[in-house]
Amino acid sequence: MADLPRCRRATWADVDGWADRVAAKVQERAATPTTIVGLTRGGWVPARLLADRLGVKRLVSLRAQHWGITATPTGAAEITEGLSGPIVGEHVLVVDDITDTGESLGLAVEHVRAKAPRRVESATFLHITRSKLEPTYYAEAIPRDAWVWVVFPWNYWEDLTTLAARAAAGTPGIDPVRATLLARCGLDVPRVDLERVARTVPLG
Ligand code: AMP
Repeated sequence: MADLPRCRRATWADVDGWADRVAAKVQERAATPTTIVGLTRGGWVPARLLADRLGVKRLVSLRAQHWGITATPTGAAEITEGLSGPIVGEHVLVVDDITDTGESLGLAVEHVRAKAPRRVESATFLHITRSKLEPTYYAEAIPRDAWVWVVFPWNYWEDLTTLAARAAAGTPGIDPVRATLLARCGLDVPRVDLERVARTVPLG
């Protein structure tokens, strides 16, 4: 995707609402899982919030890698670390934050299916409609032609650091970077946040 992509900053209030909505959909179908698999890293917070809302005690992790750097896919999606526990005979819900190409969740679901669970479903907070896999449950769809990079609260500093460094390569200096992030990405970043980023990467 674009070097400086259009972004949407998600708040913790958005996250709470998405978790409530997904949990309600699971409950409507009486499909409470016995194990939740959280994809690392983006799916960990959503998985934990859903475990709380659904009263699920067993949370297992699975590492899928695709978009290594903000808005930059790193080749094909891969499972780089297997499940942290067995899921034989379990009702499994595989959870991630967003399906974009859908490759990570697709691979994860396949990986889980091969480990003899009784049932596998999937859930994400957001679903971009270009994704090749539609999760069983999601809170909100983003139309493919409205693609944005979603800056989740659990990825804020990482995303901001990457985007600010890219902006600084063209227009160095904290205030010019701030103006570039607003104009190009649609991100209104407090100056103090960029001052913090500037302590770890040079912004000019
Ligand atoms: P994908 O395999 O393309 O469906 O994307 C997998 C992972 O990359 C997601 O779980 C996110 O952590 C991250 N990601 C991909 N696209 C986006 C996006 N548009 N906004 C924020 N994170 C994304």
